[in-house]
Amino acid sequence: MIDYPSRIQLAALPTPFKKLENFSVPGFNGNIWIKHDEMTGTEVSGNKVRKLEYCIAHALKEKCNTLITCGGIQSNHCRATAVLGAKLGLKVHLILRGVKPEFLEGNLLLDYLAGAQISYLPKEEWDTHPAFAEDLKNRLSASGDKAHFIPTGASDEIGIWGYIAAWEELVRDFAKHDIEPDYVVMATGSGGTQAGLLVGAQIQRSLTKIVAFNVCDDASYFENKINMDVSLWKQRYDVVFDETKLDIKTLEGYAGPAYGEAENIVFKMIANLAKVEGVFLDPVYTGKAFHGMVTELSLGDQGRLPGAKNIVFVHTGGLFGVFPHHENFQFD
Ligand SMILES: *Cc1c(COP(=O)(O)O)cnc(C)c1O
Repeated sequence: MIDYPSRIQLAALPTPFKKLENFSVPGFNGNIWIKHDEMTGTEVSGNKVRKLEYCIAHALKEKCNTLITCGGIQSNHCRATAVLGAKLGLKVHLILRGVKPEFLEGNLLLDYLAGAQISYLPKEEWDTHPAFAEDLKNRLSASGDKAHFIPTGASDEIGIWGYIAAWEELVRDFAKHDIEPDYVVMATGSGGTQAGLLVGAQIQRSLTKIVAFNVCDDASYFENKINMDVSLWKQRYDVVFDETKLDIKTLEGYAGPAYGEAENIVFKMIANLAKVEGVFLDPVYTGKAFHGMVTELSLGDQGRLPGAKNIVFVHTGGLFGVFPHHENFQFD
């Protein structure tokens, strides 16, 4: 139906698809299913590896020996890229937002262990990171290396294929369990997961609504970002696709105090789900989105997920980002 570009197999697929058995939401008597994309690997766990399968295939096709990418200090995407570089014998250069912390922990520790080169760019200068990356690419080129720059979160017209393909996997999961979910929900940060799922669902003519909870920016940002990535994707791969039909739904209100900072209720949700289901959410993305989903479901038809009987939460990973937040958990 659609021609995929070349991909290298890096993720452990298909990921499990399971119903939550013990966790319940007062006022909601449908089923919550989890697409376990936190199980795409151990060290490469999470959603980024699905997108990187296409981005890195592209870099290899272009005969690059170096990957440059960027993100926050605790970026799951940067960690996945660093690890995949080590596995594939590619050099990885990360540009991280902020200053080098005193202690290396979580994803950052893994970045160093995987041998990534790391540059820090202070928050106030972050707007200049594309120019910094370009400059780095030129310097590398002068010393005989060829680098491919992957933008934040691998959310671009190449990475989008990862979640277009993931939708096909989800459709097989739905068939196996004989369900047609009303909603598929997930956290959105750089928009690529949301964009890929939306495009995949439209290609497959699925009736399921795709709903995202933003952890930064706002709904109009994701509207623009997704429209831009989808039109670049259309141009690049010459696909026939009506992007005016994309039903982009981003529910605001759960981003918390800031990107990477969460309210106490999110930490409580993380602890509760770990205890009753053995499923670990993270405070930056999945904890906020899961909290948003539960809150909306508890409001029934007054909420923003009305009529939900079967709802699928895409668990996009983030486990290593839990550790730097250890002080926010309380036990008696
Ligand atoms: C990056 C990330 C997201 C957001 O995905 P995008 O495609 O960047 O919107 C969600 N959850 C986790 C754990 C992530 O690392």
